[in-house]
Amino acid sequence: MKLGCIADDFTGATDLAGLLRRSGASVKLHFGLPDHPCDGSADIEIVALKCRTEPVAKAVADCSQAAHWLLAGGAESLYWKYCSTFDSTAQGNIGPVAEALMSITGQTQALYCPAFPENGRSVFMGNLFVGEQLLSESSLKDHPLTPMTDSNLVRVLQPQVNGSVGLWNRIQQADNQSIPDTTHIIADAVEFNDLVRLIEKTPESVLLTGGSALALPIPDKLGLSSTDPVADPQPAKRAIIFSGSCSQMTNRQVSEWKASNPSYQLKPSELNAEALEQCLNWIDNLGANEVGLVYATDTPEAVKASQAKLGVAAAGELVEQAMATLAQQAYTRGVRRFVVAGGETSGAVTQALGVREVLIGKEICPGVPWVYSGSDKDTVALALKSGNFGSPTFFKDALSLLD
Ligand code: ADP
Repeated sequence: MKLGCIADDFTGATDLAGLLRRSGASVKLHFGLPDHPCDGSADIEIVALKCRTEPVAKAVADCSQAAHWLLAGGAESLYWKYCSTFDSTAQGNIGPVAEALMSITGQTQALYCPAFPENGRSVFMGNLFVGEQLLSESSLKDHPLTPMTDSNLVRVLQPQVNGSVGLWNRIQQADNQSIPDTTHIIADAVEFNDLVRLIEKTPESVLLTGGSALALPIPDKLGLSSTDPVADPQPAKRAIIFSGSCSQMTNRQVSEWKASNPSYQLKPSELNAEALEQCLNWIDNLGANEVGLVYATDTPEAVKASQAKLGVAAAGELVEQAMATLAQQAYTRGVRRFVVAGGETSGAVTQALGVREVLIGKEICPGVPWVYSGSDKDTVALALKSGNFGSPTFFKDALSLLD
């Protein structure tokens, strides 16, 4: 293994994995800290944690453990991945984790660049933009857990860290001025070539941290890029789609699929053992080549009505539990291709299937690769899509990529 990455949430880690796989390097993703030693068998290994909003001390402890695990497996350098909208509070966790990782690797500085030009996130003069809007004027200002009310990342990072914070702006970079000598450096980037230049110009004594896009040029720099990538494993053909996301795009994707394919709706208020049994009967009666969609996806009004009746958490939990049980049952019936819509829903399904680590395969759309678990002889393929990712034909796109 050349590169070890630590990501602060699961879908962000999948996004990073998909982008790094574009290089042709082999990429392995672990959900949670593995309970076995790292064998360093892939070029790049990623540990996905759920530490974005954990208390600082816990996030630092978890990430430090992941770092030691990756370094023991042979990682030559580390990458700290967080959200492209720099989701954090004045307490952390982006800065404190970076400082902990620096003390583990012995690196003396850390570079921060959340820019993701392909997805409209850019940093200019230290200010983070979401499309044309400043971060503090975007919907992120109202985030329930990490409201981002200041777009200036130098100001956002300073209270999180002990060391000094400086800016390496785009004009200085283009002018070949070297990296500032502050301990922490916010770096501008508005287009992909800026990220390439940052990776080229940043010395090894600097810890790299950022969104998924800054990592994209790293395989090239490490000599890991290959035009002849390892082929994806071949899972058995039987497939199913689960959709628990209620985002606008998922609603479109469900409508698109339903128009010409079999589908089955789960209603949270009617979800009991009998309802699951009926759904299983429906799955059993599908034709050998038919792919069914099981969905709880609904309009915002219908979701609000279920939540009012059952409670927000209970409605979500009922649906996730149902999807988890159905996924296990589908697996015992021979299904090996799972397309799942929804971040939490994906978490529930992967947990139910006992998936702890995956190899990364072909990219279905930016941010969503096929991932594989199981053995060579019995592979399980998963497409895990959060919220608004993908185009309206995502389900079909995902399945046809495997054929
Ligand atoms: P996304 O990635 O779009 O946020 P998630 O799966 O993370 O999707 O979250 C959607 C949440 O909504 C899940 O907890 C899911 O169980 C819940 N849910 C799904 N369908 C309904 C529904 N009809 N009514 C209420 N909650 C629902």
